[in-house]
Amino acid sequence: MIMEIQERLRNFLSQIPEGITLVAVSKTKPVVLIKEAYDAGHRIFGENKAQELAEKKPQLPDDIEWHFIGHLQRNKVKYIAPFVSLIHAVDSLKLLKEINKQAQNSNRIIPCLLQFHIATEETKFGLNYDEASELLASEEYRSMKNISIAGVMGMATFTDDMELVRREFRSLKNYFDRLKENHFRDDNAFKEISMGMSNDYRVAIEEGSTIIRIGTKIFGSREVTH
Ligand SMILES: *Cc1c(COP(=O)(O)O)cnc(C)c1O
Repeated sequence: MIMEIQERLRNFLSQIPEGITLVAVSKTKPVVLIKEAYDAGHRIFGENKAQELAEKKPQLPDDIEWHFIGHLQRNKVKYIAPFVSLIHAVDSLKLLKEINKQAQNSNRIIPCLLQFHIATEETKFGLNYDEASELLASEEYRSMKNISIAGVMGMATFTDDMELVRREFRSLKNYFDRLKENHFRDDNAFKEISMGMSNDYRVAIEEGSTIIRIGTKIFGSREVTH
């Protein structure tokens, strides 16, 4: 098992270009497996449930960068605010306000990504361009001192149609470029495009991804998918 995860990680890292951040998505996986990936040298892990993350965090080394990649409910922000390195899926001003408040309580600045709705599926969360633009133009956003918008995130449709996936990723890159131009021109912190999972990361990288979120390809399949 140990060799397996180390080998998968090594194989995986060897085939992605330098400069791409790999988030090893460890949701539903036990801490012993995360420790194996840690021992192989990996430091960035992603979880999508606040309580699961808050439980795992104290059982693992302190130099892990924990990314929160899932839909975050406002009443759960407090569990992860003291330590989370990046929140990938901010899709409302209300959520951002709560993150700002909890970050202030922890005396931190929490980097966040704005999640865009790029898939054709109805069920996925996320903003459209106008909503994001409105959020960024609001007085409330401008007054927030304890969050920093580091870029955008999106999930493509779950399909084998890679041309559709490519168009969706391209639209996210396009949103990124427009936001950069209109809201973050002089802000070097706004630089990340989080897109690409086990089944579509190659296309995501071709379309400009800077952060890929990989679970299955590193840890194997999950018993419950969520
Ligand atoms: C589970 C999950 C991933 C990883 O999915 P895999 O297909 O296992 O690589 C990436 N991003 C988000 C938001 C997820 O919930």
